[in-house]
Order: sequence, then C-alpha cells, then structure tokens
Amino acid sequence: MSEAAGALGIFGGTFDPLHVGHLRLAIEAREDLGLAEVCFIPAGNPALRNTPRAAPRDRLAMVELALASLAGCSMDPAEVLAAPAHPAPSYTVDTLRRLRAKHGPTRPLVLLLGADAFARLEEWHRWRELFGLAHIAVATRPGHEIKVGAGETALDAEFRARKGAAADIAGAPAGRIVPFAITALEISATAIRERLARSLSIRHLVPDAVLDYIETHQIYRTPHGH
Ligand code: ATP
Repeated sequence: MSEAAGALGIFGGTFDPLHVGHLRLAIEAREDLGLAEVCFIPAGNPALRNTPRAAPRDRLAMVELALASLAGCSMDPAEVLAAPAHPAPSYTVDTLRRLRAKHGPTRPLVLLLGADAFARLEEWHRWRELFGLAHIAVATRPGHEIKVGAGETALDAEFRARKGAAADIAGAPAGRIVPFAITALEISATAIRERLARSLSIRHLVPDAVLDYIETHQIYRTPHGH
C-alpha cells in the first residue's frame, strides 16, 4: 500500500502455455526498470483473440509452477477465477482499476507489454484510460521494435507525449511509456502448441516444471479442440 513497496510490474498474457520468453521479459523488466515485483495475470476471457487451448486451471497451474523458482514474481489468478461467472471479455483497464484500488494512488504500477501487443493498443477497450492507471513499459527485441511514434494516429501522439525512461517510473504512479530492450528469444506459445501437436520436443522452450505438467496432463495433443 505504501510508496516504500516500490514499483509493481503487471504482466498479462494468455500463457497458453507460459514459455521462457515470458520469463525473460519479467526478469529483465524487474532488473532493468527497478521493479519491486512482477505480477503475472493470466487472462480470463481475452477480448482480442481466440479462446485459449488449455483449460483455465491448467494455465494457472503452469504459471504457478514456473514462478515457484523465480524471485520477485507472483501470480494474480483473479481474471481467470472471475471468468466463469462473467463470460464477457476481461479487460486490462478493469484489472488495472482493481489493482490501483488495492495498491493505493501513489504506488507506481507498470503494465508490461511486448512491442507487438503495444502496437495494437488502440484496439483495447478504453485504452486511453490505461495511462491514468499505470505506466506502460514496452519490451523490444530485434525484429520486434516499436513502430509507433512517427505517424498520425492517436497512439503515435500518446507515444510522443509520454515517452520516458526507466528512471521516470519512480517519480509518478502512472502515465509514462517506457521502452526497454530485452534478450531476443524467438519463441511463441503458438509455435509451442504447433510443435506439441506434431509430437516434437519443446524442452528448454518452457521451464522443466511446465514441460512435466504438459506431459502429465496431456495438454495440446491435437492441433484443434480442447
Ligand atoms: P501466442 O503465440 O498464443 O499469441 P505468446 O507467446 O505471444 O502467445 P502471450 O501470452 O499472448 O504469449 O503473450 C503475453 C505477452 O508476452 C505479450 O505482451 C507478448 O508480447 C509477450 N511475449 C510473447 N512472447 C514473447 C517473447 N518470446 N519474448 C518477449 N515477450 C514475449
């Protein structure tokens, strides 16, 4: 609740499944942006994409297993747990409102996004309200740079006005857009699901505990269906 708690990173995703690209983003965000903690938030009913392949409880379990050995990271299952009772899409703006109420008006909150996700921000529900609730830190890597800023869209204008650096995060609870470079790992959950459907190995693309879970529970065995 207090400013002494330090900046809180918020990392949403479908995590279908969680992979080491996600973990590196969280680790490097925490170190390079000086975050006290990174909270993973598995998406409930994601608005802009298909229903995840793995069951909600499996996505939560995989994130939890991966984070067990990772310092400074936690998971908030609220979106997934609320989803069955609220079949409407879960929106990041509502999650940030809840977290802002929980952590108080002064703690810096930092929404962590990959550059690809950031490029589509204007499609998000009530996207302009995000800036009043949190900073947005945008992870870039070779091949996934920020292509926003030079154009005439509303997001280009927001980017130009709000662009900042890691050092700005502690100075305000919200409002900056902070690019940061991470180690390039060309891994996607889509490619992992495709490899599994073809019975190919995904070892070292996901943490061993996640691999064990996928094998034990026989998730992603077929290209379609659940
Ligand atoms: P899918 O292939 O199913 O779309 P994904 O691998 O992109 O999944 P998500 O759960 O959709 O994973 O991504 C959550 C967040 O992680 C997004 O902000 C995305 O940009 C980021 N991200 C995904 N893969 C990587 C990666 N290899 N390196 C860094 N960030 C990543």
